[in-house]
Amino acid sequence: MADTVDATQLSNAIGRLSWAKLVQMTRLLCEKNDAVRDFYKERLFVNEQDVPQPSTPRSPDRSPSPSETSDDENEATPPPAPAPKPQTTGPKRSRPRFAICINCKTEFDVMTNAPKSCQYHWGEAEVDEEAFADHDEFTHGPMDTEDNREAYPDKFVYNCCDRTSDEEGCTTDWHRETDDLMNKRFKMMAGGL
Ligand SMILES: [Zn+2]
Ligand SMILES: [Zn+2]
Repeated sequence: MADTVDATQLSNAIGRLSWAKLVQMTRLLCEKNDAVRDFYKERLFVNEQDVPQPSTPRSPDRSPSPSETSDDENEATPPPAPAPKPQTTGPKRSRPRFAICINCKTEFDVMTNAPKSCQYHWGEAEVDEEAFADHDEFTHGPMDTEDNREAYPDKFVYNCCDRTSDEEGCTTDWHRETDDLMNKRFKMMAGGL
């Protein structure tokens, strides 16, 4: 049967795979094939010493915001990030090349991370009730929902800069990763299979 499948059909079928299935198949492929395993090792890991590092653990132009962390987040949030380790000449250590940024929530390549790579808002997006003037919560449901945030980004305003959700972030910084977020992601990944 496999012989009757051409490259386009295969490509389309891969494109339709769920994320979980794709991860599962890729892992299986790595187990079974040395060349595939090397392919992924080469692309997914870098030497820790080669990774550009922010010189400070936190952005200097960022003002602290007490409302930023809620009580239940405090429990799971580790103490402030330690200062980056100085470059050493010890044995090479590998680390994953891609990470999720705690600020802009996007995946980034740690090798191209730089002082202005990340653009984000340090505040929270709040519903702009004036922009929802025609919206009656009794009839139309709550204003502040995930769906509305996605459909009407211009009706949510960041309290850090008064820009709406469809405008650029007001703060630039290095992308920042946290172990906490990575752990959550891996737990999610394990649960999805
Ligand atoms: Zn902002
Ligand atoms: Zn970022």
